[in-house]
Amino acid sequence: MIAENMVGMVKSSSVIRQMFEEGNRLAKIYGAENVYDFSLGNPNVAAPAEVNAAIKEIVDNEESTFIHGYMSNAGYEDVREAVAESLNRRFETKFNASNIVMTVGAAGGLNTILRTILNPGEQVMTFAPFFGEYRNYVANFGGELVVVPPNTVDFQPELNEFEKMITPKTRAVIVNNPNNPTGVVYSEETIKKLAAVMDKKQKEYKTEIFLISDEPYRELAYDGVEVPYLTKYYDNTIVGYSYSKSLSLPGERIGYLVIPDEVADADDMKAAASVATRILGFVNAPSLMQRVAAKCLDAKVNVEAYDKNRTALYNGLKALGFECIKPEGAFYLFVKSPVEDEMEFCNIAKKHNILIVPGMTFGCPGYVRMAYCVSYDTIVNSLPHFAEAAKEMGM
Ligand code: PLP
Repeated sequence: MIAENMVGMVKSSSVIRQMFEEGNRLAKIYGAENVYDFSLGNPNVAAPAEVNAAIKEIVDNEESTFIHGYMSNAGYEDVREAVAESLNRRFETKFNASNIVMTVGAAGGLNTILRTILNPGEQVMTFAPFFGEYRNYVANFGGELVVVPPNTVDFQPELNEFEKMITPKTRAVIVNNPNNPTGVVYSEETIKKLAAVMDKKQKEYKTEIFLISDEPYRELAYDGVEVPYLTKYYDNTIVGYSYSKSLSLPGERIGYLVIPDEVADADDMKAAASVATRILGFVNAPSLMQRVAAKCLDAKVNVEAYDKNRTALYNGLKALGFECIKPEGAFYLFVKSPVEDEMEFCNIAKKHNILIVPGMTFGCPGYVRMAYCVSYDTIVNSLPHFAEAAKEMGM
């Protein structure tokens, strides 16, 4: 018998993963080229050449005990210093190695920081639509996820509701920018307002409310849009970064947390995050990948390929009459369901070998998410099938 609180989690286990498995099943029947799988955010753009070059250079030239051994739980000092310097160059910050904890991707980083700050029964807020795994990450530490309803006009956070929903039990707020699933980039104006509300509530309740910025998609931004660096706007900010999408390395599990000195009790927080990494069983972020990341701080995936996909899918669906906000970042399109129940849209799409994810997964029913980190041909070839699905839904 498994743990009681796992029963529900297994049952509701990621709809996205189920869709992905369904895609594999359909591919076996119809051939992969005839299945249009927009379910999973698994990058189809190759890791930049610098990654393999760095791996080769490291394994050929560094001592193997050093490459493969344990190190401080927070990660290699020189790697953390290199990460800090690169952030300082890009965002005019003043970090050093002590502000960086290397993590097992963004997921590892979020679990580490929640373990660090959360007491059971405390609340963590986020804005719908949101990455559904936050529910599980918060539940892991006995917290309660409080979801602010969506603003479906432009999908910027609904800040009036947010202000009303903050309580003395609010310990943290997670924002994800650029956003999964909408592709929207929260603007500087939004961030300033968000920070002002949080400042006000901290003073009112005499509590600390941490802003956790989950940023795996920071480098995937289009049309020159600026993605604000949140530590500049609010002192109690912690950044969770990942190389999963920025270097197309999701299977390698590498990222980092930034804990600035401005955060309340920063020294305790840094020490506790390092211990949290260890006691959650990560022990430390993957050793070789830490060294690779340090050598690839300026490397970039081919963002133009995602941009081309974005334009093709957005224009193609708009031409068919679908409603959708044009994404400015990440690699997702959040499309309004033409029928009230978006599950019906997902099922009709599946009949046409198209796999898409229902919005309820992201706390936003009535919409579906399409991950366009697929080949360009998949997008072009999917459009006639979307047209058939549209017809079936009376569009
Ligand atoms: N946060 C968001 C918003 C994501 O979309 C993802 C992955 O898709 C993650 C966190 C987890 O990323 P990682 O692979 O770095 O753990």
